[in-house]
Order: sequence, then structure tokens, then C-alpha cells
Amino acid sequence: MNLVLFGPPGAGKGTQAKVLQETRGLPQLSTGDMLRAAIAAKSELGRKVEAILAKGDLVSDDIVIGIIDQRLNQPDAARGAVFDGFPRTIPQAEALDKLLEGRGKKIDLVIELKVDETVLLSRAEQRVRETVSKGGIPRPDDTPQTVKNRLDVYRKNTAPLVAFYKAQGKVVSVDGMAPIADVTRAIAAALDRK
Ligand code: AMP
Repeated sequence: MNLVLFGPPGAGKGTQAKVLQETRGLPQLSTGDMLRAAIAAKSELGRKVEAILAKGDLVSDDIVIGIIDQRLNQPDAARGAVFDGFPRTIPQAEALDKLLEGRGKKIDLVIELKVDETVLLSRAEQRVRETVSKGGIPRPDDTPQTVKNRLDVYRKNTAPLVAFYKAQGKVVSVDGMAPIADVTRAIAAALDRK
């Protein structure tokens, strides 16, 4: 099964993708994680995208589509995957449909995590505090200014994807404001109905 976890930054996509990876054996395909890994490795790609991530802007469609194309060739993605943070634009969604079609697959379900945007800023602040208290280094794009920009970018470029996938009859909306375990249960129920 190929699943898209959809929602604004801080909606809990990463948390739920990790649960699905464990419970369903579907690898989490997070373009954000892949780009951060490239930055940490100081690769050519990493150097190219570092400033874009720091600002909270979108990396070009070509770059992320290329990353996902390569990732889909790895054996663990053969049974399906959880797409986390991809697609983020209509051209990315169209490209993903083609990439999967070329492999005899399709997006089976889009889980929309619905959240009240006013809490997203405080969630980002909480994430920073938790990371620091565990001795970690917070994400450089979790500063209030960058989170605001990421939300603007989401509204402008990414939110229209809901209509794109609704037209395909693939969207199930889940209350992302509920406790994590409840969100997990709601997603599991949606998957089991498929
Ligand atoms: P995330 O971890 O999904 O919040 O992604 C972190 C950052 O990586 C985003 O703010 C973008 O700068 C970049 N990014 C991740 N996924 C994509 C994507 N699908 N398209 C464009 N940029 C992306």
C-alpha cells in the first residue's frame, strides 16, 4: 500500500509515519529527512539546498522528484511506502502518480491530518524545548519566523493538493489535534477499511 500523510508542518506526519513503519512495515519516505541527511553529509545536493531549508522555502520540484524516484527503486519500497512531506506541490503529486504508475502501483490513500493552525507555532516551540532538554540540536527551521514562512508556503503551494486527491476520491481526514494514540488508531482504522 502506498500512503500519503498530508498536513501542515507540525501536524504529526513524521510521528505517525514512524508508527506505520513499525506496525505495517511500510518505509517512511520523508523528503525532509533525506534533504537534512544530504546537508549533514555536506554533499553537493546538501550544499545546494541548505539555505532553502533554513528559510523554510521549497526545494525545486525536480530535486525532490529525483530523490523519490531513486528511493522507490530500493527493495524495501516494493511493498509500498508512507510518503511524509512529499508531494508538496501539484507538479510533485502528478510526478508521483507517474513514478508509481511506471512501477505498476498507485497512491491508495491520502490521510489528511487536520490541525488548528494556531497551535502549530507552539508545537514547534515545544519541539525545540524537548530537543534541547534531551541534549540535541533543534532543527534550524523551527524558529518562529521560519515556522511562519513554512505555514505560508504550505497554504499557498501544498494545501491545494487536498482538492487534487479529493478529485481522485483518496482523502480520509483525521483529527490531528487528538492525542497521538487516538490519531494512530484513526489512521489504522482508515487503512483497515481499504
Ligand atoms: P519537512 O521535514 O517535511 O518539514 O521538510 C523540511 C524542509 O525540507 C521543507 O521546509 C523544505 O524546505 C524541504 N522539503 C521537504 N520536502 C519537500 C518537498 N516535497 N518539496 C520541496 N521542499 C521540500
